[in-house]
Amino acid sequence: MNKQATAIALFSGGLDSILACRVVAGQGIRVKALKFVTPFFDYGLLAREAQYRKKIREKYDIDVEIRDITDLYLQMLHDPPHGFGKHFNPCIDCKILMLTEAKKLLDAYHASFIITGEVVGQRPMSQRKDTLRVIERDSGTDSLLLRPLCAKCQKPTAAELAGVIDREKLPYCSGRGRAMQIELAAAFGITDYPNPAGGCVLTDLNLAKRIKKLYRQKDQVNRDNIRFLLVGRQFRLPHGGWLAIGRSQEENDAILRLCQPGDLVLKLNDRPGPTALLRHSRHPADVSLSAALVVRYGRKIPGGPLAAEVKMTQDQTDTFLRSTPLPDEQLAGITII
Ligand code: SF4
Repeated sequence: MNKQATAIALFSGGLDSILACRVVAGQGIRVKALKFVTPFFDYGLLAREAQYRKKIREKYDIDVEIRDITDLYLQMLHDPPHGFGKHFNPCIDCKILMLTEAKKLLDAYHASFIITGEVVGQRPMSQRKDTLRVIERDSGTDSLLLRPLCAKCQKPTAAELAGVIDREKLPYCSGRGRAMQIELAAAFGITDYPNPAGGCVLTDLNLAKRIKKLYRQKDQVNRDNIRFLLVGRQFRLPHGGWLAIGRSQEENDAILRLCQPGDLVLKLNDRPGPTALLRHSRHPADVSLSAALVVRYGRKIPGGPLAAEVKMTQDQTDTFLRSTPLPDEQLAGITII
């Protein structure tokens, strides 16, 4: 029987989580890294999981798997018991949720403990010493949770007490400085790693505002609406329509990927411009307003006509509408979020 111990790692993809995996693997432990995703962070990886897993294995020698926790996360975000950070980021409850999920998977992976790349004092809200304790307590991972980068300044966990992990060989990282992590990375031959600034939209001032606003209408909170809300310029139209307009090719492509049966896709027919998606309304006033907005944000032809033809596609059926750009004074009547 294979007696090699196994640990589950919470893997953000940042340097600290990479190092936590490598430090523990360096002690002969099999590490199964889990990357949790929601529409607020790393959701795009779901569509290219195999590619991502291959990249992480080749770059860092880490076996990672992606887990979608959207449903639980959306629920938690209605009322996170530990509140929010600067924007709409419930960092403490986010960690608690991920650890709770990781704990449920221990048996499935034959794992005996969980690791994270957290470092005491590194982040103001979620990595204070007292907060780390709260996270362990409320996720029920107390002695199961080893934070290998800063374990030396915490009480020994079950893995250390059982001799599965040699506490003495663990590094000592603390505070906001990154010198120790950079040194460790170099020792592992890791030179290419992402910046610490995360990609969580809940910490983004503008996107967080949008999400917060949606959460005021509890019945509107669902995966599709959240994904829609996070792309492009957003408008709420007078008859209930939601309009998203791309601001770049990347956003135009993202908008098209979000299209569902019944949605109306709008594009300029006779010159370059954005892709837009109208959802939740087919009211003629919302449709013509959407067309006018698409023309407004489309490319202007110097000396050419301001009006343009807008191609509107719903369930593979095209219709066309000629529209002038929406004038500034009419923008005021539309909610822009
Ligand atoms: S920044 Fe976002 S992903 Fe990171 S802990 Fe906070 S809520 Fe979670």
